[in-house]
Amino acid sequence: LSASRTLWDLLARRAALTPDRPVLLQEDRTLTFGELRARAERTAAGLYGMGVRPGTVVAWQLPTRIETAVLSFALARLGAVQSPVIPFYRDREVGFALRESRAEFFAVPGVWRGFDHGEMAVRLGAKGVFEAYDDLPEGDPAVLPPPPSDGTSVRWIYWTSGTTSDPKGVLHTDRSLIAGGSCLAHALRLTGDDVGSMAFPYAHIAGPDYTVMLLLYGFPAVMFEQFALPDALDEYRRHGVTVAGGSTAFYSMFLAEQRKRPTAPVIPSLRLLAGGGAPKPPEVYHAVVREMGVQLTHGYGMTEVPMITMGAPDDTAENLATTEGRPPEGMEIRIAEGGEVRLRGEAVCQGYLDPAQTAEAFDADGFLRTGDLGYVTGGGHLVLTGRLKDVIIRKGENISAKEIEDLLAAHPAVGDVAVIGLPDAERGERVCAVVERAPGAGEPSLDALTSYLRAEGLSVHKLPEQLEVVDALPRNDTLRKVLKYKLRERYSEPAR
Ligand code: ATP
Ligand code: MG
Repeated sequence: LSASRTLWDLLARRAALTPDRPVLLQEDRTLTFGELRARAERTAAGLYGMGVRPGTVVAWQLPTRIETAVLSFALARLGAVQSPVIPFYRDREVGFALRESRAEFFAVPGVWRGFDHGEMAVRLGAKGVFEAYDDLPEGDPAVLPPPPSDGTSVRWIYWTSGTTSDPKGVLHTDRSLIAGGSCLAHALRLTGDDVGSMAFPYAHIAGPDYTVMLLLYGFPAVMFEQFALPDALDEYRRHGVTVAGGSTAFYSMFLAEQRKRPTAPVIPSLRLLAGGGAPKPPEVYHAVVREMGVQLTHGYGMTEVPMITMGAPDDTAENLATTEGRPPEGMEIRIAEGGEVRLRGEAVCQGYLDPAQTAEAFDADGFLRTGDLGYVTGGGHLVLTGRLKDVIIRKGENISAKEIEDLLAAHPAVGDVAVIGLPDAERGERVCAVVERAPGAGEPSLDALTSYLRAEGLSVHKLPEQLEVVDALPRNDTLRKVLKYKLRERYSEPAR
């Protein structure tokens, strides 16, 4: 299986090996590996009949559903170039994705969660719009040309979260996605007896990453079209999910459920929470292990490199709490001057849609500039300290937002926190902590938090000078990552 060069090849091999094992579970429906292959082939023939050829760009904005996975594999079978778009995105992001990718087809769910995607597609002048929610196009696979044999052509255009600027179109090959998924599989040490879960959007880069893992090991995952706790707990229990997760916000959601009934495990079958893609305060690790009685592994990834490092379940608590884990074999990490993390390896993307961005992104040795800051420990674990664009420069001193965030996150009155630099006439930037209050806790004050930080040993020049308490931090819709640029916009404005 690990010799597969294309996603289709990987599915075909898995389907030959264990055709009757389930791969995707959703509500009362089950799809086996054999059925996934057969349905994807019929759908590929239907798409072929519509004019989709190897290399045709097909954008899709579909929720996390069995049909979406079928469509995605059908496109892989054809050797089309697919561009997944997060289902919650609206005119601005979707228009951007359609324009930049020059998609010739656009698959939408019709009306989904009260929003008319078909109408939006028309409004945006999308080409080749078709619905792919319940009914997928089908045809006779006999018409199909042979599947692609090389894994090194660009077949995927993914969109970055747009945390720091406009989203960027990231070019991936089957090879880079398989490399990412294999790393994940290797790090998590799962087996064919596990039951996974996809609570994140399938349109996120984590979608294929996760699916590769299912294909390699031959175990199923529960798909959530509309993920919300506590409702989803029944699904986790019913299917006996052993691995759940997504990202930090998900860990916190599970913890909150566990705290409602601390006497028994909230999902009895669960043994591992796994995720990544956003900062994770050490305190969250300890709370999950202590209160939920499961292991937590967290990793570092980005749209450009779906899997960079991942914590291994058998690593020490200290390493799992404070690092992003180790890189897999084949992933070269270089820490450049100034602390920037740079990467080279099979899982790294080919570049961006915009050649100018590609030229800027790679250094002279072909390493990708991640824009993230960090260091590698003596044991080979990566520690992230922040993002280049997220360093606060106060009176000429560089201050890591993350260091302050990690300390504040452990304070009982703090649910979640983002620390940002705000323009300041005197100091260049000043440190501002934006705090989401912990459920049931009183309103934290700047005084209380700064004395706490001082007691924790934070140097005086790093202490927040401004505190904003909010009900909810602004987050994106995929991994619920905090959108700091929105906070900077909000609090940089002169008070009215
Ligand atoms: P854009 O590139 O458009 O500004 P983005 O970088 O947020 O957006 P993504 O590709 O979704 O878009 O996110 C990748 C980034 O998320 C990484 O570069 C890193 O800054 C952050 N990240 C990922 N994993 C972790 C982690 N484990 N801890 C801290 N930050 C992480
Ligand atoms: Mg980025």
